[in-house]
Amino acid sequence: MIKKNYDGINYNHTIGAALLTKSGKIYVGVNVYSLNGICSEQTCLSCAITKGERDFLTIVAINGKNGEVISPCGNCRQMLIDYMPLGDVIININNELIKIKVKDLIPYAYHASY
Ligand SMILES: [Zn+2]
Repeated sequence: MIKKNYDGINYNHTIGAALLTKSGKIYVGVNVYSLNGICSEQTCLSCAITKGERDFLTIVAINGKNGEVISPCGNCRQMLIDYMPLGDVIININNELIKIKVKDLIPYAYHASY
């Protein structure tokens, strides 16, 4: 997915994400560079929501340059809290992949249901 969206000139999408939904489907996305570009996590979540998905289980993002799992940025963490606070995210801690609850990414985060 990342290679298909990277030419080093006009399409420099270097991060990909995959989102597993409760329905068993996996939605993928790449980051989109712009002044106010969006991250790959936001892309795949947006695709899933567009298709009517509402229950999200697990999300993971990969750096296409080295294949490493990366953690969501602060903006994505807030978005994930908003849409899947009880879902899981896979992150890389000292070269060990762990799965933690999204709500644990931002302690004391703002969320209407809290
Ligand atoms: Zn992000």
